[in-house]
Amino acid sequence: MKSLDFPLPDEAATLALGALLAQALPERAVIYLEGDLGAGKTTLVRGLLRTLGTDGAVKSPTYTLLEPHVVSGLNLYHFDFYRFNSPDEFLDAGLDEYFADAGICLVEWPARAQPYLPPCDLRIGLHVEGGGRRARIDAESERGEAWLNALAPPPASAAATSCASPAPG
Ligand code: ADP
Ligand code: MG
Repeated sequence: MKSLDFPLPDEAATLALGALLAQALPERAVIYLEGDLGAGKTTLVRGLLRTLGTDGAVKSPTYTLLEPHVVSGLNLYHFDFYRFNSPDEFLDAGLDEYFADAGICLVEWPARAQPYLPPCDLRIGLHVEGGGRRARIDAESERGEAWLNALAPPPASAAATSCASPAPG
């Protein structure tokens, strides 16, 4: 399946990648956001939500587990499972209901809720590189593949040297 690789030299580039993903956003999708604390996961979601037109602040769900947003007629559910001690907390909190609903589920620390999460459409990995970050996006479903295929080339600020072409593997 398709994968894309983006150097993200500064925070603006991470926001721009979120904005890029807001293009061709399906009505329903599951996105896993992987990477250490501080890798830029929440920043990317912020870029996506701002582009869709959210007016309020985009808070990190680190303490609340879930920050729901309704924007442009879409339900977006932003999760962060960093603080889970056990994946059973996912079921205990009734969060599986959100994944059955039509909407966009953006999940930080998805591994901490496994095996209960449904499979993702896109898996986004972020890591520190130099003073900035690097992102790799893998499509893991037909819907995710169609989404990546529909993206226009990234804005110059996001990828002066980006290869917006599939990375090997
Ligand atoms: P996470 O949600 O992965 O823990 P955050 O999105 O909260 O990480 O970002 C942590 C910090 O990294 C923030 O201060 C943010 O401004 C910064 N940041 C995000 N993207 C980049 C980047 N490409 N280069 C440098 N700093 C970045
Ligand atoms: Mg975060």
